[in-house]
Amino acid sequence: MFARTMAAADRPILAQIVPIRRCNLSCTYCNEYDKTSSPVPVEEMFRRIDKLGDLGTGIVTFSGGEPTLHPDLDALIRRVRRNGAIATIITNGYFLTPDRIESLNAAGLDYLQISIDNIQPDEVSKKSLKVLDRKLEWLAKHADFAVTINSVLGSGIKDPEDAWKIAARARGLGFNSTVGILHDGEGQLRPLRDDHRSVYDRISEFSGGLFTFSHFDAFQRNVIRGISNDWHCRAGGRFLYICEDGLVHYCSQQRGRPGIPLAQYTREDVLREAAKPKGCAPFCTISCVHQTSMLDEFRERPHEALSGMIQRRREKQPTWEPPVSVRLLEWMFLTDKKRRDRFGSIALRVLRANSRRPN
Ligand code: SF4
Ligand code: SF4
Repeated sequence: MFARTMAAADRPILAQIVPIRRCNLSCTYCNEYDKTSSPVPVEEMFRRIDKLGDLGTGIVTFSGGEPTLHPDLDALIRRVRRNGAIATIITNGYFLTPDRIESLNAAGLDYLQISIDNIQPDEVSKKSLKVLDRKLEWLAKHADFAVTINSVLGSGIKDPEDAWKIAARARGLGFNSTVGILHDGEGQLRPLRDDHRSVYDRISEFSGGLFTFSHFDAFQRNVIRGISNDWHCRAGGRFLYICEDGLVHYCSQQRGRPGIPLAQYTREDVLREAAKPKGCAPFCTISCVHQTSMLDEFRERPHEALSGMIQRRREKQPTWEPPVSVRLLEWMFLTDKKRRDRFGSIALRVLRANSRRPN
């Protein structure tokens, strides 16, 4: 998937698709759910998933509302996998049981993310460790797919220390942990208080991969300090948000643009919308779009991107030793110009060869 998407700029890297807008919870900061809508019919979802396959999409993420309320979610996951893409879901976790986790295994789910907002449920959010901890234990025991627990900081979160405890519990169970920043209704930052920032800094010390905590972290650190980021948002191209009506939007917080039906979306649309400057980019907190856009930085300026990531990581942790894979990349691409050119041309040939999609 990585080779295919990196080799062609006209393929979406990640598409987030809504199979149902309804949610069983009512988090007060959320503008992405309702209480009444029906699931999108399975045949219509198959058409949309197949269209994403035709566009060459690398990863398809089911979100909502609450995607596990869709009665045919397993069949949708299978369809994504059949098309050769990676299948992931973002869920509040309420409906997970050992049997449900086993059926997600059988469907071929690759990755699941749960966001947990607090330790004890309150009037803002019921996505609480107290309620979900048993589900996390079941996931640790039964899941064949990767699990990430996202804890949240920002206004509306009463006690920022909760985010720290949630991240520690996630790591203790062997999951990845990330920290998200609550945004306003347009995906923009609400400035963080000092106590929230200090918790963010401590969570980021759980050193993750090179990608997460040396490059992406630089974005988040600017955002929480109210400093703008200079980046190019590729939403509408490398990232697509498909609503329950089958329209393509930039992201969950910038709906209405471009607002073109997915059924009519073309590779020209992908290229055009990815290239458009987005006025909301400097203070954007939508992390998944940041991350997909970063892959294009690798694609277009691999030398600068890799050396910048290694340098930022070493600034943050001077004793850090890169893993073997990164050392190999460093040796191939950063230390000697002739070697870099030689490996660069080999890599391009391999990527192009692998980019031919199966019929
Ligand atoms: S669980 Fe998720 S989709 Fe449902 S209301 Fe809360 S944030 Fe929104
Ligand atoms: S910069 Fe991109 S991802 Fe962020 S809010 Fe704007 S359109 Fe959405």
